[in-house]
Amino acid sequence: MFKIPDWAFEFHGHLCPFMPIGYRMGSLALQKLGVERCKDHEMHVFSEMGVGHPQTCMQDGIMAVTGATFGKNMFERLYYGKIAATFWYPGINGAIRIYLRNEFQDKMAPHEFFTYRKKSIEPSQIPDNVSQDIINMVLTATDEELFTTTLMPDYTYKPVKGSFNKAACEICGEYVFERYLRVKDGKRICIPCAGHEPDEKVFYHPEIH
Ligand SMILES: [Zn+2]
Ligand SMILES: [Zn+2]
Repeated sequence: MFKIPDWAFEFHGHLCPFMPIGYRMGSLALQKLGVERCKDHEMHVFSEMGVGHPQTCMQDGIMAVTGATFGKNMFERLYYGKIAATFWYPGINGAIRIYLRNEFQDKMAPHEFFTYRKKSIEPSQIPDNVSQDIINMVLTATDEELFTTTLMPDYTYKPVKGSFNKAACEICGEYVFERYLRVKDGKRICIPCAGHEPDEKVFYHPEIH
């Protein structure tokens, strides 16, 4: 049976099947790319999850096993509403996309765990034996039963280069990292003082050629 360390469940906060699915998905990505868990800023993950569906727990599992965390800016969301993610690693040609098979999604769907979830009962309130049973379904499945993997040899991505440069906003006086300074009436100011919307997606979208 596949093993997930206890700290990953502690970090996630409750017992559910999707954190383990993400953990296995990330583990398979590391294996297929032939790389180790990231210490620094190596891998970038593009999750196809969105908002308003409970499977997003998967993302904590991916971050736990790969070390490609949100905090290190290695984790982006594409908002497609699919249980899939693309894994890119510097120095390796292309990327790999992993998708949770329809067959496995359908196999899990009738489980008692979701009877509780559909009544809006949170995972921590579901009896442990029910949650553990669906987790065991995930841990005993083979990679092939769980996932389809697609190599994307033409996938390229350029991570944003880090910079420590900053300047004080000429209106509020707070420091702003350089790329976020805006110019208004000849003054270099922060985004809230400029009344602008943040335009982060411009910088972070992967380039697919
Ligand atoms: Zn969860
Ligand atoms: Zn300001």
